[in-house]
Amino acid sequence: MEKVTVIGGGLAGSEAALQLARNKIYVDLYEMRPKKSTQAHKTGNFAELVCSNSLGSYDISNASGLLKHEAEELNSVLMSVIHECKVPSGGALAVDRELFSKKVTELIKNNKYINVINEEVKSVDVNKPVIIASGPLTSDELSDNIKNVFGEDYLYFFDAIAPIVEKDSINFEKAFYMNRYNKGSADYINCPMTKEEYERFYNVLINAPRIELKSFEKGAKFFESCLPIEVLASRGVDTLRFGPLKPVGLTDERTGRQNYAVVQLRQDNKAASLYNLVGFQTNLKWGSQKELINTIPGLENANIVRYGVMHRNTFINSPRLLSKTLQSKKYDNIFFAGQITGTEGYTESIASGLAAGINMSKYMKKQKPFIFPNDTMLGALINYITFEGHSNFQPINSNWGILAEMEMDIKTRKNKKLKNELLANRAINCINKIINKI
Ligand SMILES: Cc1cc2nc3c(=O)[nH]c(=O)nc-3n(C[C@H](O)[C@H](O)[C@H](O)COP(=O)(O)OP(=O)(O)OC[C@H]3O[C@@H](n4cnc5c(N)ncnc54)[C@H](O)[C@@H]3O)c2cc1C
Repeated sequence: MEKVTVIGGGLAGSEAALQLARNKIYVDLYEMRPKKSTQAHKTGNFAELVCSNSLGSYDISNASGLLKHEAEELNSVLMSVIHECKVPSGGALAVDRELFSKKVTELIKNNKYINVINEEVKSVDVNKPVIIASGPLTSDELSDNIKNVFGEDYLYFFDAIAPIVEKDSINFEKAFYMNRYNKGSADYINCPMTKEEYERFYNVLINAPRIELKSFEKGAKFFESCLPIEVLASRGVDTLRFGPLKPVGLTDERTGRQNYAVVQLRQDNKAASLYNLVGFQTNLKWGSQKELINTIPGLENANIVRYGVMHRNTFINSPRLLSKTLQSKKYDNIFFAGQITGTEGYTESIASGLAAGINMSKYMKKQKPFIFPNDTMLGALINYITFEGHSNFQPINSNWGILAEMEMDIKTRKNKKLKNELLANRAINCINKIINKI
């Protein structure tokens, strides 16, 4: 049987390649790292998590949680590796990022169906079966080629990475472990601020120099759920206190009171030696980041092992280019997967790679590729990005608003938790019904 070319060994490409291998289909998996890296990746490993080590909620009554459960029902390989690499993080699913990508790399390299080629792909061979999963930081030459082959300009937005500090450099006379509302074990490190400390922090933040954007990046569009802290701060003095620095549910045991603001840190590796600053993605100059972090009580002497940086994220005009099977409308042997299609987030990228892997397997076996129903979060995401009626297509995370309507009485509809549970049950039932057809 002919081989499938997968371009990109990120979350989507790794999942897609492993799905093809499960179906006994041979794969040439091209990954340009470590020879050539992106602005965000640090290693040559597959499935590297470029920023946070958290994949978000695992609760099925949360939209991202539902997508994870659906991916598990559909036998996502990466989801099972995630469970092997979990680190404590309350209701969220967070992993030791190094261990996770190391395990995925081993699975790929030891798979007899997958041939790894560490080269940059500069052009897509439209005569071969190909999955393009080169991500939001697709190399320039491949970007130009995709633009020429498919005849559509790229769309783009900006987002940023949060810094990571060493736990040993945190001052636990000020910082304390606790989970919001004391739910579950106390996994987060909290750095509390008084009103005066918050105001001092805020002043340093709004006056701090940012890294100059290049002229073509001016007027940058940001992804609303991943805004740099300096952008949030520019919206008003209290915006951060009601956003990533909100103190609610975090009573300081030493004073018995709620603090004015709290910076939270989440465990970043299994050894619990590294912690990332939650919601602290930033594009400030590195010297300013250090100055700012050192104004946070408990982090006065924090040793920063990774600084925040901002990147342009590109995605294709999926509503014009893709069908609901993730196939190109122009060439049905070419599939797209991952963030390049306009779905945003780690879980979304894995799920999209899973769908592309399933559908390319069907294509190779001369079966009809599958359209995931709108009752499922995966189907709803694909439906959203391929909907032709968007006036301003922008990337999307999993959310309840995109699922197909479900009949329920007004009282149930108003009870958010109950409503989401009903939608989640319907989605999982739907996946269980379709699993035999896949
Ligand atoms: C800076 C940044 C921070 C992010 N932070 C988060 C976060 O905290 N949480 C979250 O949920 N999501 C985050 N995202 C969004 C998204 O979930 C991730 O980018 C995710 O890794 C996307 O998965 P992917 O497989 O589509 O792309 P990637 O994981 O980026 O994989 C694409 C792969 O393709 C390779 N490649 C590119 N061009 C070529 C080529 N020409 N030839 C061969 N290989 C190539 C790259 O090296 C890369 O390994 C972030 C994105 C960026 C850019």
